[in-house]
Amino acid sequence: MSKEASRRVATFTESVIRQMTRLCQAYGAINLAQGFPDFDPPVAMRIAAAEAIRQGYNQYSTTHGSIRLRQAIAQKMRTYNHIPCNAEDNITVTCGTTEGMIAALLALLNRGDEVVIPEPFYENYGPDSILSGAKCRYVELDEPSFKIDEEKLKEAFSRKTKAIIINTPHNPTGRVFSKSELELIRDFCQDYDAFAITDEIYEHITYDGRRHVSIASLDGMTNRTITISGFSKTYSATGWRVGYIIAPRKLTAAVRKVHDFLTVCAPAPLQEACITALKLPTSYYENLRRLYSTSRSLLLQALEEASFTCTSPEGAYYIWTDIGHTGFRDDRQLAKHLISRVGVGAVPGSSFYHRPSKGRLNLRFSFSKKPETIRKAAARLARFR
Ligand code: GLN
Repeated sequence: MSKEASRRVATFTESVIRQMTRLCQAYGAINLAQGFPDFDPPVAMRIAAAEAIRQGYNQYSTTHGSIRLRQAIAQKMRTYNHIPCNAEDNITVTCGTTEGMIAALLALLNRGDEVVIPEPFYENYGPDSILSGAKCRYVELDEPSFKIDEEKLKEAFSRKTKAIIINTPHNPTGRVFSKSELELIRDFCQDYDAFAITDEIYEHITYDGRRHVSIASLDGMTNRTITISGFSKTYSATGWRVGYIIAPRKLTAAVRKVHDFLTVCAPAPLQEACITALKLPTSYYENLRRLYSTSRSLLLQALEEASFTCTSPEGAYYIWTDIGHTGFRDDRQLAKHLISRVGVGAVPGSSFYHRPSKGRLNLRFSFSKKPETIRKAAARLARFR
């Protein structure tokens, strides 16, 4: 047969992050490539999930999410993120933030619309934008600070700009964008009548007393922001696939339509358990930050000793490194070497850039693991030195 897969699919490659996970599995390497915890969600959540299944939450929920969960999310968005919203007009529960992002883009973008994406960026945003038919305008963050650069935004924004994709705390650099950087983006969105689409999945994971700011909470942004977050990272439940979208009322119907035809609904019993998650005390979040803070220090030290030059993360759970002093000149080659010979997985830096020639001298390591796992990885990395 001469007919083939769609041309659309040929324009992007498979996920390098997931590819690294497969390699780690094949070689028995400690997976510091894909960002997911090696420990379970809080016990109260696991009990609530089992109980929900026992009590009969086993069929589809309302397509845009259980009303009790949407109410709990709305409450959290108002108090933690300072975003005015309510369960009926603004919230859609999705199968993870991954679905949230593609559903938001498909709901918002027309073919030919331009989307501004700060670079380096989480690798899904490229294919997501391609699938939605938009044209990507990449703006490099200022190195080595990874701050937003006003001049570069000026070059990227135009009349055709429909949206900018923001991600804070940032994957892969660990930046937590400041209020003034977000205000700068706000000014561009207002001047060019554009939307902000913001991925805030790491919102609770910040260090050294830094606070996460949601761009939708800034004056004038609530009605031009789609905020996406979820339960995967905050509650160590990446396999549950429960996320959500907070959209302005005028966009919610479009978002829900796309979501419905993509996935119908997020897993019903797990949505019930996510209501329990949102009731956890403040100490839960403090403990999570403390745990990741320990893992962050351990991995920073191990990597520096193994001659990687590290960007110390302000949030999220990734360390962006420069491999210039390791003796290797190619990110993929070094990632392969680390997995097969040293027993530690990392993600090649080039997979966070639209042009593979960039990021060749970078690797991303995740410390989303128990401190004891990071210690084991550190012992292996000492052999690399
Ligand atoms: N967000 C995580 C990462 O960047 C995991 C992504 C995924 O594989 N779904 O590694």
